[in-house]
Amino acid sequence: MKPLIYGNLLDEQTRCVHYHSNIDIIAIKFHCCREYYACYKCHQEKAGHHLSQWPQEEWDEQAIFCGSCKTELTIEKYMEQTSCPNCAHPFNEKCSLHYPVYFDI
Ligand SMILES: [Zn+2]
Ligand SMILES: [Zn+2]
Ligand SMILES: [Zn+2]
Repeated sequence: MKPLIYGNLLDEQTRCVHYHSNIDIIAIKFHCCREYYACYKCHQEKAGHHLSQWPQEEWDEQAIFCGSCKTELTIEKYMEQTSCPNCAHPFNEKCSLHYPVYFDI
């Protein structure tokens, strides 16, 4: 089931005004509000509160949404992969630069 995804979305695969290359297909559920946003900039603009990072003991939470096949992944699983384990769509590897924004590393 597709969760509700917030942000300045551009398309069904959760690309947004900030990140919209071919491989920008995931949305992330935020620890602070348990809501999905396309990216942290979308969260910053729309959420009205500061974000908090997922602590490591909660990395088994399903908090990553693949916009290509519409399935959710756990944070742990997502961090092990460079493409979606369900549909094989490649993920944006540059997203890993932003892990500290989302996850308590
Ligand atoms: Zn939030
Ligand atoms: Zn965005
Ligand atoms: Zn997928």
